[in-house]
Amino acid sequence: MALIVQKYGGTSVGDPDRIAAVARRVQHTQAAGNQVVVVVSAMSGETNRLTALSGSVHPEPPPRELDVLLATGEQVTIALLSMALARLGCAACSYTGSQVQILTDNAHGKARILEIEQTQVSADLNAGRVVVVAGFQGIDEHRNITTLGRGGSDTTAVAMAAALQADECQIFTDVDGVYTTDPRMVPQARKLTRITCEEMLEMASSGSKVLQIRSVEFAHKFRVPLRVLSSFSDTGDGTLITFEENPVEAAKIAGIAFNRDEAKLTVQGVPDQPGVAHHILGPIGAANIEVDMIVQNTAHDGTTDFTFTVHRGDYTKARQLLQHTAQQLSAREVSGDDKIVKISLVGVGMRSHAGIASQMFAALAAENINIQMIATSEIKISVVVAEKYTELAVRTLHTAFDLDDDTQPEEEQR
Ligand code: ADP
Ligand code: ASP
Ligand code: MG
Repeated sequence: MALIVQKYGGTSVGDPDRIAAVARRVQHTQAAGNQVVVVVSAMSGETNRLTALSGSVHPEPPPRELDVLLATGEQVTIALLSMALARLGCAACSYTGSQVQILTDNAHGKARILEIEQTQVSADLNAGRVVVVAGFQGIDEHRNITTLGRGGSDTTAVAMAAALQADECQIFTDVDGVYTTDPRMVPQARKLTRITCEEMLEMASSGSKVLQIRSVEFAHKFRVPLRVLSSFSDTGDGTLITFEENPVEAAKIAGIAFNRDEAKLTVQGVPDQPGVAHHILGPIGAANIEVDMIVQNTAHDGTTDFTFTVHRGDYTKARQLLQHTAQQLSAREVSGDDKIVKISLVGVGMRSHAGIASQMFAALAAENINIQMIATSEIKISVVVAEKYTELAVRTLHTAFDLDDDTQPEEEQR
């Protein structure tokens, strides 16, 4: 008998009919001889609705109370799904994160899972019940409700699978697997049958929201067999996340990710001397603002320009902090741009193929797209370009790196 953890995202439980369809799939999985734990998200749009609701009461709600509010979304779906299962004659029991005791740290809104108590869940499974767990939430050591950040139900599912040593964690969503890029942006995107965990980590951290980055980190750390599948179709094996170190015949590029949640800040004319980078980024870090790409130019006239990117939501605050620092450093000026996008090529095949960066830059140049920043890692090349070029740049690179699915006529791909 295998133990399967299935996670269903917001659109997969978006209305009563969808919930009934999920219940049938869960029942079917159990009837095939498996023990099943189901993790669900809130119904689609609900977390956004609750966030907006809180904003209409307080522009910056206390994080503890916001988590109490946001966690209600998932409580609705665990109850509805358990009812739908009961209607099919399938014994099921729902649990919130606090009832399971999904212990997290106390970072409200972006809490990390520390430990999961399995006693009750295992007892239910052994008694033949389906266990339905609310995704995205936990409790800290003082029993405060915490949430795990947007997309956090993926992480609940993988963490449950790791704790229970499940045979597979299946992430059911509204696409039938991981594609070479977001299929909503590029209809010619190709579904991958496999992707290495290393590549999936880079894709997720570079903006592919099909899996929350922390869920992939968990899968990596605990070697959780992870698969992405569609809850809307009954066919196909989805995409398996693999743990091969050096897959044979790795394609040059596995996929292209893009992230619009970035903004760029530059301090121009800072003195070229030791300690300046720390002076600039110290206050940013102290304000809990995450920095992504960093570029410092070569100095001339004893000064240099220092550029970095932050989440778009932190742009205004970071710019204010920077004005202050620039005055202290007698820098020339602070400038910024929050209409940028970061586009990343990801692939373990890069290790064995030279010239990928120049091929990327040539393809963008041919479309007259100006590159503002560049960063590379062993299996990733990222560029920052103006946001208005997002679609053109992603499609151009998708074609340039031979990723287009040309097995189907274009009409059918839409
Ligand atoms: P859920 O609500 O099920 O968690 P999400 O909206 O979080 O679903 O994630 C699924 C979405 O991820 C897809 O609808 C798709 O638009 C987007 N996506 C982004 N990049 C990719 C990719 N490389 N492959 C597949 N889907 C992707
Ligand atoms: N409901 C949460 C969100 O919308 C968690 C999730 O769906 O994974 O982000
Ligand atoms: Mg999601």
